[in-house]
Amino acid sequence: MDLTQLKGIGAKKAARFARLGVDTAEQLVCDFPRRYEDRTRICSVEELQEGVSAVLVLRLLRIYPAVYLPGRRSLQRVLMADDSGEVQVIWHNQPYRAKSLRVGECYCVYGIYRDKQKALLDPVLERSDVPSLAGLEPVYALCEGLRNGERKKLAEQALEKVPLSQFEILPEGDRCAFGLRSIEWSYRTRHKPASFEELQIACRELDARRWLVYLLALGRIKEIVKRSLCETLRPVDMTPFFTALPFSLTAGQQAAFQEIQSDLLSDEPMNRLLQGDVGSGKTAVAFAAAYLCVQNGLQAALMAPTETLARQHIKTAQKLFAPLGVAIHPLLGASPAKERQRAFQTAAEGESGLWIGTHALFSDGVAFPKLGLVITDEQHRFGVLQRKKLQQKASIPHTLVLSATPIPRTLTLSALGDLSLSQIAERPPGRQPIGTYVVDGRYEKRILAFLEKEFEKGHQAYFVCPRIDDSEDELGHWSIVNVAARCQKGLSAKRRMGVLHAQLKAEEKEAVFTAFRNGEIDLLVATTVIEVGVDVPNATVIVIGAAERFGLAQLHQLRGRVGRGAGKSHCILVAQSPSPSSLERLRVLEKSEDGFEIARRDLALRGAGERFGTQQHGVSGLYDRLAQSESGALELARDWMQRYEALLAEAGSLPEPLATAVAQEKSRFSEIALN
Ligand code: ADP
Ligand code: MG
Repeated sequence: MDLTQLKGIGAKKAARFARLGVDTAEQLVCDFPRRYEDRTRICSVEELQEGVSAVLVLRLLRIYPAVYLPGRRSLQRVLMADDSGEVQVIWHNQPYRAKSLRVGECYCVYGIYRDKQKALLDPVLERSDVPSLAGLEPVYALCEGLRNGERKKLAEQALEKVPLSQFEILPEGDRCAFGLRSIEWSYRTRHKPASFEELQIACRELDARRWLVYLLALGRIKEIVKRSLCETLRPVDMTPFFTALPFSLTAGQQAAFQEIQSDLLSDEPMNRLLQGDVGSGKTAVAFAAAYLCVQNGLQAALMAPTETLARQHIKTAQKLFAPLGVAIHPLLGASPAKERQRAFQTAAEGESGLWIGTHALFSDGVAFPKLGLVITDEQHRFGVLQRKKLQQKASIPHTLVLSATPIPRTLTLSALGDLSLSQIAERPPGRQPIGTYVVDGRYEKRILAFLEKEFEKGHQAYFVCPRIDDSEDELGHWSIVNVAARCQKGLSAKRRMGVLHAQLKAEEKEAVFTAFRNGEIDLLVATTVIEVGVDVPNATVIVIGAAERFGLAQLHQLRGRVGRGAGKSHCILVAQSPSPSSLERLRVLEKSEDGFEIARRDLALRGAGERFGTQQHGVSGLYDRLAQSESGALELARDWMQRYEALLAEAGSLPEPLATAVAQEKSRFSEIALN
């Protein structure tokens, strides 16, 4: 059903929804709230607490005249009361508020109470003498020109008009046998839950259905891959490699390499995830695996998510492998055509060596007739079908995925199917903890003075900005342009600065990054392009502007850019508009350097509602999956799985509509793996 068939949606509004990826009424129904505002605390004036939101029923006693402030700002104050006492209500920049209010009337009010102003700030309110606003308020993904209230009403309308039974993937008999609520009930509850308990049931039952389809699809694909051949490697003497390495491996790195080696020497294709926190030294382990492969006369490929990172790997590899006689073939989008051509040609001729590039490595139709191993770095895309794609000729390559994303073991096994996991728990010796500090904008002078001192010691620093260009809104203050200008003014004239962001041309990026690597730039003002993998051990400070704009996991990644050498390193998180909750979030980083711990705390702090359900696959959606499995959905799905696997073995097919859902999921897998 076209969106415009809903009341209140014209062509213009439909275009806005299109930007959210919603084109039909069916999609609108499937676009569940991102989180739910907890409006379940009903209290009296007497029971109000600093910083706590609450629902109250109040009588309006007095309306004060609006106060108009410079810059189109205004303040509207009113006095309200219940039997237990009086309280002020303040609205900022909503001078029209007073017009609709009547002294003596009763209102239901929902808002946050602040001790400092002794007032409820910017509450929502409606005329009512009962707590009509109480409950769980759905909060949807919005875009410009689309308000939540409107979105909520549209969801209600669509829920009425769209036949919801089409979303059921289980045969009706099975649904009843499994003791599940109807799909209609679950969809309605996801949009308009009556309580947290009901919301949880709806989420669990819907998530379990998704898990079931996912697991069944994964099972079908796994079968295809299992039947594939791979190159079986023979053992080689690793001594030259380990001698050439400028350090000896930590126990964790050694153990990981042993696991990889035994996979490679077996006759089943490896599909292993090497997980280690930022700075744990995954690259050296990956290079060891590549060495083993190349010494077998085969080809190895390393794919990085960005050109910057690919280039860094190329430099490290060239230095390490040159004396070992292993050929390194750079394959970058920006490389001269001739060089690319040569890299393609040597690949096609089946010469052994290590090819390093971005994932363009495989999209250009390069043939690797003797591909033995594919390593993807910080690339959260894996899975059986991806390997299917890398298959050249009869055999598929071994694959190794490097990731800093902390992934709980139980989850990996079920979510990622046949993926084995190696983990490096410790960091290389001699690293000191990274001093982490949460400050606000007033500290900028001191930060610059601190940078000056570090530069004096010969160290380098990053300044991370959430934006490239200046803009009207408050983030403009933290644009690269403005931050660079302020640093230029605040630092001594001899300091050399560079900027790095995605909009620069590839050559410019390379020039800046090479200069930073070589120590010719003191301060690199950059966007999060430096987030993954960048390794410059001489950089000892990272300053992050408007830090509350970033996720904790991302901040942890960014922080991992420092603390890579022997010197003491520092991470300064500058909060832009520090609210107590955002400060609490940032302080998690002050206290912990453990990626697992941080991810767990992040999940806990984001609150229950936000954790439920997304449509993503792979590691990016993994934490949502974790939330799903916490709700018991995974266990449910596993129970059902057994029944359907048995049915499949017996009857050779799945019942409808499940069969169609699994087939669709399978094709979705391939899209994801191929894009
Ligand atoms: P990540 O796991 O984040 O990819 P890297 O592989 O980039 O980490 O390694 C981080 C830094 O630690 C690099 O500069 C690397 O040379 C160094 N390193 C790795 N392993 C060791 C080790 N065993 N001893 C000393 N330094 C090491
Ligand atoms: Mg890395």
